Amino acid sequence: MSYTTKSEKKTRNMTESENYSMEDFNRVPKIDTHAHVITEGKTMIEEARAKNFKLMVMAVDVVPDYPPLEEQIRFLVKHHREDPDILAFTTAFTLEDWDDPEWSDKVIEKMKKDFENGSLGIKIWKNIGMDKIDKNGVYITLEDPKFDTVFQFIKDRNKVLLSHAGEPKNCWLPLMEMTVNSDRDYFSKNPKFHMYNHPELPSYEDQMTARDNMLKKNMELTFIGAHLATLEWSVDRIATFLDNFPNASVDLAERICHLQVQSEINRTKVRDFIIKYQDRILYGTDFQQLEGVAPAELKAYMNKTWMNDWKYFNTDVMMTVPQLNSEFQGLKLPKIVVDKIYRLNAEKIFPNAWD
Ligand SMILES: [Zn+2]
Repeated sequence: MSYTTKSEKKTRNMTESENYSMEDFNRVPKIDTHAHVITEGKTMIEEARAKNFKLMVMAVDVVPDYPPLEEQIRFLVKHHREDPDILAFTTAFTLEDWDDPEWSDKVIEKMKKDFENGSLGIKIWKNIGMDKIDKNGVYITLEDPKFDTVFQFIKDRNKVLLSHAGEPKNCWLPLMEMTVNSDRDYFSKNPKFHMYNHPELPSYEDQMTARDNMLKKNMELTFIGAHLATLEWSVDRIATFLDNFPNASVDLAERICHLQVQSEINRTKVRDFIIKYQDRILYGTDFQQLEGVAPAELKAYMNKTWMNDWKYFNTDVMMTVPQLNSEFQGLKLPKIVVDKIYRLNAEKIFPNAWD
């Protein structure tokens, strides 16, 4: 698939000479649309402020690695009140009492309260589809009619649904065949989610189909497919997804390395894809600040990641990252594309955030 039409080529050439340098990083206003702060600690907020970043921070129903949702939401509401110029947030719901016939109504009541406290959306996680089973032993999927009124409520309130559905395609491969070191590392530590070992469970395509079928019922909903909508391995698949769902965007959190894998094979294709879909892509990292993290360590990790990402999108140097074993070349995107991915698209989706 080619992503360049004549008019796009023209725009591209007009803006081609305008690029940011590494020195511009601190100065340019940026938004990291995918982060987690799960403590009262302020390290991530301080570092964001120092580097001209604003944050969209998400509560997420990750048990038992994260504290219970109520506690996460309490942290976020507090941070948002104290640092509204840096931290905006979204909440989540649990699947607790799923079999209760009033589950949907109870969740809507909780969301109402979170929206009143400043939440701008709801994040759903891979436990829908990959972990939670109902009373009949069947995996709950995103297509379940119980979600219909919940997602309708999010739409009616003009909030955003953020979805981490399924897992990277690597999850269905043996460790040695995975394309990036970070997936190899995660799935060796989280064998429960390593689907190569669980062929009896729903497949990668089952997860994608359930998510897409849910979206077909909710075409008007503002939707962010976190982690490149779990189609990270193929810019063609991401393009098709964005074409099919005009109100959907995708975030880059923890999946930039998958674009880099594709860059190694065909840099122009990845670059053209980003330029064509420049209004639908959001910068994000998936940084986490958990209780007890060493501030210096977290800051060093944040800066290393931010700078590598900036280098990849803004320069054309040959570079390496910890997730890949080989070198690839930066994309040197035009300034306007970088501004959209790093700020303008997020401001459009979340108007009045970070005031
Ligand atoms: Zn995340």
